[in-house]
Amino acid sequence: TFTVAIIGRPNVGKSTLFNRLVGKKLALVDDQPGVTRDRREGQARLGDLDFTVIDTAGLEEADPASLAGRMRAQTEEALASADAIVFVVDARAGITPHDRQFADLVRRAAKPVILLANKAESRAGILQTYEAFGLGLGDPIPFSAEHGEGLSELYDALREALPEQTRLPDPEEEGAEAEPADDADRPLRVAIVGRPNAGKSTLINRMLGEERLLTGPEAGITRDSIGLDWEWRGRKVKLFDTAGMRRRSKVEEKLEKLAVSDGLRAVKFAEVVVLLLDATIPFEKQDLAIQNLIEKEGRALVIAVNKWDLVAGDPGRLKRLTDDSERLLSQVKGARIVPVSALTGDGVDRLMEACFAAAEVWSRRISTARLNKWLSRVLEGHPPPAVSGRRIKIRYMTQVKARPPHFALFGNQLDSLPESYTRYLINGLREQFDLPGTPIRLSMRTSD
Ligand code: GDP
Repeated sequence: TFTVAIIGRPNVGKSTLFNRLVGKKLALVDDQPGVTRDRREGQARLGDLDFTVIDTAGLEEADPASLAGRMRAQTEEALASADAIVFVVDARAGITPHDRQFADLVRRAAKPVILLANKAESRAGILQTYEAFGLGLGDPIPFSAEHGEGLSELYDALREALPEQTRLPDPEEEGAEAEPADDADRPLRVAIVGRPNAGKSTLINRMLGEERLLTGPEAGITRDSIGLDWEWRGRKVKLFDTAGMRRRSKVEEKLEKLAVSDGLRAVKFAEVVVLLLDATIPFEKQDLAIQNLIEKEGRALVIAVNKWDLVAGDPGRLKRLTDDSERLLSQVKGARIVPVSALTGDGVDRLMEACFAAAEVWSRRISTARLNKWLSRVLEGHPPPAVSGRRIKIRYMTQVKARPPHFALFGNQLDSLPESYTRYLINGLREQFDLPGTPIRLSMRTSD
């Protein structure tokens, strides 16, 4: 099978990552106190990927006198038997000389490398992440093995590293550039998420035009999150819904967590996420938790306001909802809001149009020339502030990825760039290049 080695100096969080990938059960069985293993192996599952993972963390408890040599030998052995390498650094600690030594070993192995900047759950950690660019092992993925953040980026990176036959075909990967998002041959992957009883099952039934899902007030209905194939106006769509989790728990806060964890699965597989609200209930914490997930996973967002048949007599409601969403959903500004009635089918076509439009925005590529023309105007009108006497210099920018749009800024002292200025740039990009309803990523590539 495909083998992935987790490499890195002691204490960067390799074991935590291993446990997360392999699952608690095995880790608990394996973690007997006083047992020093040089290496652990386990079967990992991430989304639809299956692979063997090797962890070299056992060495950390070894006799320090012999540590360096054994660690090196073990690392080399793990590198030799791996098909791909996950190289872990500690984003909070920054890059140490020790990291550089390990990076050299990794580079010499000449295998696909995924660079994880672990412990990046805090803002400080995220900023330090960019230091890892200097290792020359590609773009670091901000990660938190402890909190499970960044798993979907790791998943994407592993998919790229994995050989074709070990996975399902990935429509997303086939040329983010070459293929427009509305290519008729490729299904648009849409997740329908929302709080219990928002009407997800009813909406999906309405779309599919048949009773493929169970709906209604019966208790105890559970089903897994699966993809459903559909066609809308001759275009292929794959729907992912999360209806199943809704009645597993009666405790409100637990339900919220479940809805989020279940949503995670659907969101991970989707390109566009439809956040289904219930028009008779205002925005709730739960809805916002889902928007955070959408932002983190980098998906396009469309908001559907269901049960519009019940509130259609209230003309101010859409305006209020729009205001609320602009205020509350601040990370994915400008998402289209579409009133629908899953019961009558009103608005479903407009919802699908909005989904295809959102996918187009999400996939958009902006030329470096246009970006820099805009950037120079921005820098002239509103240059970055000097922070404690040091001059921040922004030289140029380029779009490094689409789906979602990801830009990189190049310059000096960029790590000192205040968050408010970064936000200002992101808002400017969103406006100038018309990027509503998608997260926008901006990374700093600072040369000192
Ligand atoms: P889910 O938990 O999100 O899958 O929600 P369901 O699809 O099971 O719907 C919950 C309840 O809301 C059911 O009783 C539906 O009949 C009702 N419902 C769903 N959509 C609409 C709608 O557009 N209008 C009205 N009036 N009721 C709806």
